[in-house]
Formats: sequence, C-alpha cells, structure tokens
Amino acid sequence: MRCPYCQHVGSRVLDTTHDNHGGIRRRRECDECHQRFSTLERPILATPLLVKRDGTREEFDREKLTRGIRISCAKRPVPAAEIDRLVGEIESSLQQMGRAEVSSRIVGDMVMAGLKKLDQIAYVRYAIVYLHMDDLQEIREEIDHLLEG
Ligand SMILES: [Zn+2]
Repeated sequence: MRCPYCQHVGSRVLDTTHDNHGGIRRRRECDECHQRFSTLERPILATPLLVKRDGTREEFDREKLTRGIRISCAKRPVPAAEIDRLVGEIESSLQQMGRAEVSSRIVGDMVMAGLKKLDQIAYVRYAIVYLHMDDLQEIREEIDHLLEG
C-alpha cells in the first residue's frame, strides 16, 4: 500500500477494525513521512451473467437497465433517485445470489416488482416493451390484476 502523501511503500498498522460489510479497515502510519491514513479491504461481489431467452449471455449493465426503466417512467412522477435506488437493489440482489449465471427474466421480474410499487403506468410500459410479453392476453391479465388490486 502506497502512502497517499509521499508515495512511499511501507507503513505500520496502528489498529484494525471490521466494518459491517465484511470489510477490514486499517489505520496506518507511513514509515517515511509519518502521516496517518486508513485503508479499507472489502470483498468484491461478482454480478452473475444474464442468460437471455435466446440462450446468449450478457453482462449486467447498470446503465442499460437504468435507461430502460427511465424510458418506462417518462413523464411519470417517479424521482430519478428512486430509479437509481431500484437499480442498486437489483444489482445487490443479483450479487447476493452468488451464482455465475441467472436468467435475465429474474432481472425483469425484479424491475416489475419495483415499478409496481413506484408507478403502475411505468410498470405496464416496462412489461410490454422489455419483457416481450408477446401475448396480449398476458398483458391484459396483468392490467386486470392492477385494477383489482
Ligand atoms: Zn508517506
């Protein structure tokens, strides 16, 4: 670990604490300039690959998912912060599955569940465009459920 002040490699650990995300925080003192700084080690969780309906795989793309949800929420009273929060929740749920691959449908289902709470119009738009609900009957049933609920 390089000292952020003088770039010297070599420091003394003053103390070590654990944070509540499984990380380890170390307070250090540079051997050269004696400035103090902290380092944080955290596990990096991998996001599983998404398996699409046609069997091809793609990386989880936070930007792309955000764009898709934004389009569904166009001119609807959904704050951008809520969309970011939803995307963040989806990403961490995927990581916590601890799997190498998951069906892309899982992501769609999580978006649907989130949008259903945020805005029902956005929810129906997402269902039609992104889940390729090519069966009109299925879309109608979804809308009927919403009207009943
Ligand atoms: Zn230093």
